[in-house]
Amino acid sequence: MTGIRLDAVSKVYDGQYLAVDGVSLEVAAGEFMVLLGPSGCGKTTLLRMIAGLEEITEGELWFDRTRTTILPPRDRGVALVFQNGALYPNRTARGNIMFPLEIAGEDATEANAKVSGLAKILGIDTTLDRLPRTLSGGQRQRVAIGRALVRQPRIFLMDEPLPNLDATMRTELRQEIGAMARDLNVTTVYVTHDQIEALTLADRIAIMREGRIEDVGTPAQVYNDPATAFVAGFMGSPRINLMSATVRVTDHHRVFLDFGIQTISLSPIDRRSLILRHNDGRQVIVGARSDAFTPVAGGDANELSGTLRTLEFHGHQWIAFVHCDLEMINPDLVGAVPARPTAPPPPSPASGTRTRHAAASSPALASALGAIVKAAFRRRPPQPPAEEPSTPAHRRSDLVIEVGAADGLQTGATVRLSVDTSRLHIFDESGRRIDRITR
Ligand code: ATP
Repeated sequence: MTGIRLDAVSKVYDGQYLAVDGVSLEVAAGEFMVLLGPSGCGKTTLLRMIAGLEEITEGELWFDRTRTTILPPRDRGVALVFQNGALYPNRTARGNIMFPLEIAGEDATEANAKVSGLAKILGIDTTLDRLPRTLSGGQRQRVAIGRALVRQPRIFLMDEPLPNLDATMRTELRQEIGAMARDLNVTTVYVTHDQIEALTLADRIAIMREGRIEDVGTPAQVYNDPATAFVAGFMGSPRINLMSATVRVTDHHRVFLDFGIQTISLSPIDRRSLILRHNDGRQVIVGARSDAFTPVAGGDANELSGTLRTLEFHGHQWIAFVHCDLEMINPDLVGAVPARPTAPPPPSPASGTRTRHAAASSPALASALGAIVKAAFRRRPPQPPAEEPSTPAHRRSDLVIEVGAADGLQTGATVRLSVDTSRLHIFDESGRRIDRITR
């Protein structure tokens, strides 16, 4: 098994666009690492740099103790699967999986045994003699995965490998990919923008944004203790509620979160109370997942109240939208790189070709040139989400809460919501959590 280490790896496309920005990450031998993030954040670019399909502008890549930064792809022992792994149409499933072994000149009996063993793990042992056109999308993708794995790669890379299948088939294939990776115990890096895939498959998740990694941790760590407001917003459905608040501290060092017209207090033994007790007047961002609220009859000191606008039935639960007149914050825009004017043309030493050439001949020179390119050019300005073309970071919108049953709840009526303050996440204005976490 092979471990991967990325040391401050960057990618500048065409000498002018910084797609990956100084990423450092370690993937342990045998680990299943998921790269998660919104479209365009640099996940595929990072994966392709690990595969050797994209040259590294700056930084170093290591497989165990071997410097792999400039190693040709064929010498890396890496297998890559894309969303729609193309198969040879005139070869059966067996013939497709067998192909890399034939090229390598493996003994036919041994090759057949390998293919049959792998097909069992992938659940396609009964379809091995069929041509790709007679297979379902899920079966075809299993064959593509089998073909990638049959030569026992040191590292398995998957780029959004779940094809456009119906929800049940996707879930099934996702579970099989997870089981297969555990069975084969191969170091895996898996790219997705789907947080459910990430949460269910990963040993650890690296959440990317605008070419950088914002947080790395186990699924429970990044969900329960997100490092930033953006990560909190990316993990979980419904999306976390992020609210703007001012810290108020009493003469007795009690800490309150003032939401404008409503206030709640932190327990004196809450570690965030200890951090905020000298921060009277500080602006913070308070995150509360939809299940941190419970509708109550009233009388709870830590309540928010509002008007129930809408109730949605989701089968196992109801989602309620409650207008509390709070200043809500859009997680996509917290701490985003401010928009910059279009970059000027690159200085001549950092043209794409010369940068790549430098990377191949001298890491020190490549690093220096990479730094010049990075300093001269910045990422494209972040694009607001398509459905909210001009949403500012702060806006008035509803609290989204989960309720087990709709009994007693009426749209248009006032609801009182008890807040479990131990489950609040508190971030500074730039979106970083105020309490340090160690992973
Ligand atoms: P998606 O989930 O949509 O595939 P991603 O997170 O994988 O996105 P990348 O494909 O790595 O993102 O792209 C990162 C950025 O780099 C994008 O803005 C993309 O337009 C840009 N990019 C990718 N490949 C190239 C290229 N060959 N030349 C120039 N820019 C590129």
